[in-house]
Amino acid sequence: MVSGSFKYHNSVKLADSLYCYIWQGRGNNCNSCLFTDILAGDRPHVLIDPGHINNEFGESCFSYLVSAMENDGFKVEDIGLIINTHSHPDHCEANEIVVERSGAWITMSEEEDEFRNTLGRKMYSMFGVKIPEFTPLFYLKEGDLSLGAQKSELNLQVFVVPGHSPGSICLYWPAQKVLITGDVVFYGSIGRTDFPSGSLSQLKQGIDKLSKLDLEYLVPGHNTELGSIVQGKQNVERNFQGVKLIF
Ligand SMILES: [Zn+2]
Repeated sequence: MVSGSFKYHNSVKLADSLYCYIWQGRGNNCNSCLFTDILAGDRPHVLIDPGHINNEFGESCFSYLVSAMENDGFKVEDIGLIINTHSHPDHCEANEIVVERSGAWITMSEEEDEFRNTLGRKMYSMFGVKIPEFTPLFYLKEGDLSLGAQKSELNLQVFVVPGHSPGSICLYWPAQKVLITGDVVFYGSIGRTDFPSGSLSQLKQGIDKLSKLDLEYLVPGHNTELGSIVQGKQNVERNFQGVKLIF
């Protein structure tokens, strides 16, 4: 694991083709992950959760992410696919800018897109929050997801874990034993379930399933006071044991 600190994101290279951008700013924004040089063609990178454009403190979260990526040698224009773990604006607000700049495709689960277009839309308009506008090209289902071709093939497994949001997904990369969790599970904590359509029992079921995976790294969508990435098989196991006490 190689780590380079940039003012607003800590860039963590977890594997040859995976960079995690850990949010270090003041206000709310998610952590983003970039799978590099995966897809065939001119736009080979895959971005998980671009995050906010600007957050509640007026921080230009997305511009900072672009700078951190550029510092590692990657351009927004070279992103071919965005995967959203779920549809909360702090994870997908910047989708539209990425699409504008690169023409990237977007994917998430169908359950989540349905929520975004119905109850989610009502909820955000009630709070005066602008609903991120984008159209997924295809939907993710629970099961295998193979991206790229031959030499650079990336084999992931998608887990649909409702509870924080109805169609939240987690991405498992068995080859490197990495789990990208979105807002399902954090370092020492779990995603909140008090939003409309939230469910603590569904979240618990999902977390039980995830805890059986063979893992070296847990990459959560947000940091807690305990930390960001949970590293090492034992620590990941301990983290699951700990969060299960919350239920
Ligand atoms: Zn969320």
